[in-house]
Amino acid sequence: MPRIFARFWAVILVAILGALIGTPAAAQSAPDILFVNVNVVPMDQERVLRGHSVLVRNGRIAALAPRLTAPKNAQVIDGGGTAYLLPGLADMHVHVRDHEMLATLLASGVTTVLDMGEAPNAIVGRTRAAVERGTLPGPRVFAALAVDGSERYGHLVVPSPEAARWVVQLAKANGYDFIKVYSGLSAETFAALADEATSSGLSIVGHNVESTGLERQIAHGQGMVAHLEEFLYGFFRLPEDGDPQAAPDDSEISRAVAFLKRSGTTVTADLATYQAIAAQWGKPEQVQDYLRLPAARYLSPGDRIDWRRSGYQRRTGSLDRRAAFLGRFVHALAASGVPLIAGTDAPTIAGLIAGDALHRNLAALEAAGISRYEVLATATRQPGLFIKRTRPQSEPFGMIAEGSRADLLLVSANPLDDLSVLQRPLGVMTAGRWHDAPALAGLRDGVVQTYATAR
Ligand SMILES: [Zn+2]
Repeated sequence: MPRIFARFWAVILVAILGALIGTPAAAQSAPDILFVNVNVVPMDQERVLRGHSVLVRNGRIAALAPRLTAPKNAQVIDGGGTAYLLPGLADMHVHVRDHEMLATLLASGVTTVLDMGEAPNAIVGRTRAAVERGTLPGPRVFAALAVDGSERYGHLVVPSPEAARWVVQLAKANGYDFIKVYSGLSAETFAALADEATSSGLSIVGHNVESTGLERQIAHGQGMVAHLEEFLYGFFRLPEDGDPQAAPDDSEISRAVAFLKRSGTTVTADLATYQAIAAQWGKPEQVQDYLRLPAARYLSPGDRIDWRRSGYQRRTGSLDRRAAFLGRFVHALAASGVPLIAGTDAPTIAGLIAGDALHRNLAALEAAGISRYEVLATATRQPGLFIKRTRPQSEPFGMIAEGSRADLLLVSANPLDDLSVLQRPLGVMTAGRWHDAPALAGLRDGVVQTYATAR
């Protein structure tokens, strides 16, 4: 058959199959889901809408009202007047390892993650697409391509401004959302990365870059600082008493708050991460305790090995004063309205297990004196606003409002009274797909079994 005819028949065949299967139309005709008798915590402001209904259609929130009647064929989920519905949680600093980690996150109520670098290529490509199609259970994944300027920490090295421009194009072509900068980039390379990212619609997130410093990085367009402790390395003046683990004076905090207020920069509030580092600093027995945590069943065999090798347990001195300072620092940031997003660095640091670490971090922020509403906002509303600023073409999330992506969490009591209820979801919805409590338990059991048989 001549090629032109082959192409003609192929087109006809695709058209007939398309009409029979109705590809896009079929995807859109998934049944509606109606939540009734739920107390909605919308996270647009501090309030609870008692006994409301929420209609989910085509993966989005279609309506929110005191009473809605169920459309024909809709699945109805009845909260019985006692359950609370809130936006799904976000962990904005993870390192995604495998499918099991994604399942564990979902079962923990996490519906959005930001991979902060070095996920396998297949995660950012194929796996992420499968999650979006609904064929693989997991949270939505945003991804950063991580780059450094020296081999010291084993990251991908960008040696020159020219290479920086290529790297940004490579990141864009491979579906990355952000460029994450590490500490060792040269000033010229950082500037080239920032300029090229800005003109390509990506933004810069990450660490303090020693050659440049946080103030100049942020002035050059970096939109997010990936750890609270970066301010110890790239902003605060430390006392000159020769102690390498000294904490800054509290009078330094107001200068940082004023600067961040002026620049509008988002800060990843990873307080539990630094606390975990401080707890295992020079203490191998602490790493052993972490490996015996109930949640450690959800730790991959590879991470289990890495935790045992943790270099922090062989260090000397103490980071306790710094950890306490970061608690006061993050409290001041929250009090002055600097946008804070929750992040954990799970599972790269011993003690931080995907999902569990986010709940620990929320508890740590509350213990630092931040109100439960503001703490919950770091894992819902604020990540939604951060993505809206940096990736405006993405589906909105983080609040229960018409048009938002239907990423939802159903729990048995008011999280604004007790954040720990978030650890035991009655159900989790991702982009309109409902996972009830038995389905979530099935996911958890599957992870434990897969990891156990891998040993
Ligand atoms: Zn990290």
